[in-house]
Amino acid sequence: MTALITGASRGIGRAIALEFAKSGYNVAINYANSEVSAKDTAKECGEFGVLAFAYKADVSDFDACKEMVAKVEQDLGPVEVLVNNAGINIDNLLIRMSQEQFDKVYFANLKSVYNMSRQVVPGMMKRRRGRIINISSVAGLYGNVGQTNYAATKAGIVGFTKSLAKEVGARGITVNAIAPGFIETDMTDRLSDNIKEIARSKITLGRFGKAEDIAKAAMFLASDGASYITGHTLEVSGGISL
Ligand code: NAP
Repeated sequence: MTALITGASRGIGRAIALEFAKSGYNVAINYANSEVSAKDTAKECGEFGVLAFAYKADVSDFDACKEMVAKVEQDLGPVEVLVNNAGINIDNLLIRMSQEQFDKVYFANLKSVYNMSRQVVPGMMKRRRGRIINISSVAGLYGNVGQTNYAATKAGIVGFTKSLAKEVGARGITVNAIAPGFIETDMTDRLSDNIKEIARSKITLGRFGKAEDIAKAAMFLASDGASYITGHTLEVSGGISL
């Protein structure tokens, strides 16, 4: 079985790749820039005795996704699980946000989910099986100051997930999303201590999440135990919204 995880050179994607490898999946590790980290993730995944390779492709680019999926399927066989995890944030208040800042985040976070799903869904439909797991965010559910671009893409993922779930459910394919809260990765590391403290004060469990917390949720959604769950967005946030 093969799982393709976008943005798996670092952070949450890397933890997801390791979790799938640990469970016996061959893994395709996509990255955009961090070649060394991506190859390192592949090496660590390979230590679980599975096939694991790194694939460079900008998921904002439809043709690059097409080429990557063709290469992955040549190397590892059909993609049975696609995890659309790659994402970026370029935060700014709307009154200062440039078109470029909005568009870049839109292409990387939302258009990418179409770009990738469009490549793998036809094969999944033919085989009558498959799992798609999209990484949204609590920002897409509740909003966040300075993140109109980011939150819009993450809310878009929720709508995309529900719609695609309806389109492909009869073919045995499930499509779900995960909405992480504040997870310790490079993305959150660059926030100021003040912002981190405000975020921590809102978390019911009183601590930031780890990339592994999201990886375990992704593994569950890919497992047989989740075969009757589709179109769902699973919040994994330590209770940030309570
Ligand atoms: P991260 O540590 O910044 O890692 C981002 C990953 O995405 C990297 O592997 C990066 O590849 C890849 N990537 C970015 N743009 C790409 C592109 N155009 N094409 C291919 N790969 C690309 O981020 P993270 O915190 O792990 O976040 C992972 C996902 O979780 C994102 O969708 C993020 O929005 C979401 N999320 C994170 C949090 C959080 O608190 N951390 C909360 C909610 C949701 P390179 O290394 O090659 O650049």
